Amino acid sequence: MNRLPTLFISHGSPMLALQDSPARRFLEELGASMPRPAAIVVASAHWETAGSPAVSFAEQPQTIHDFGGFPAALFDMQYPAHGSPDLGAQASALLKGTGYAVQRNTTRGLDHGAWVPLKLMYPEADIPVLQVSLVRGASPSEHERLGAALAPLRDENTLIIGSGSLTHNLYEFRGQDVDASVQSWVSGFSTWMHDMLQDKQRDALLDYRQRAPFAERNHPTEEHLLPLFVAMGAAGEGVAAERLHSSVEYGILAMDVYSFA
Ligand code: ZN
Repeated sequence: MNRLPTLFISHGSPMLALQDSPARRFLEELGASMPRPAAIVVASAHWETAGSPAVSFAEQPQTIHDFGGFPAALFDMQYPAHGSPDLGAQASALLKGTGYAVQRNTTRGLDHGAWVPLKLMYPEADIPVLQVSLVRGASPSEHERLGAALAPLRDENTLIIGSGSLTHNLYEFRGQDVDASVQSWVSGFSTWMHDMLQDKQRDALLDYRQRAPFAERNHPTEEHLLPLFVAMGAAGEGVAAERLHSSVEYGILAMDVYSFA
């Protein structure tokens, strides 16, 4: 069986779950366009742990509404997918095998970086999902290594997703419209990332903060880009990235989706 690609998904604003947009329409088609996975592992920007990665072991993870100031309809949404403690044990063993201490978390639910895109991709919520955390303050190359440790799960038809945002500076959100014109510092960064991903410029990507134009302006903190490196690592070295979707919301949030296969 051919292995599933790994994915980097930009999840944008939680309004993705409610509001029509090109990115939303793309994600609604994406699940059905790929072979159906047996299970899904998500590394989301919204779960960071100190020192070492954590793995969720909840049998029935709760839907976490980890945001504020949005319509009640968003807080009413649920994504009742099962967890998979067995897969959690496998993921933990793989991470431990590469030298990580692993935190086992039996109560963690699904944050919006996980459930919002999954609700669009797999609305039936009938595929088990577990989350693996990012390591707070760890580098892109450490997150690439974390992804690489999880790569064997792909042999069992597990879909590995990094969920973040290709650009993510919410300080630049000043009430502009969802279809506001794209800021040049956003397109400059996104284009550089695309060029490097297409050309498999791994070293440049891992050093994006020094080399990419407007890196710090697009990512004042790194957590929304680090899931890209998890997806990249899980795909294996020398794997080409394909941009499956590109759009920008509010002029500042690049909603790009990449597959690595
Ligand atoms: Zn986010």
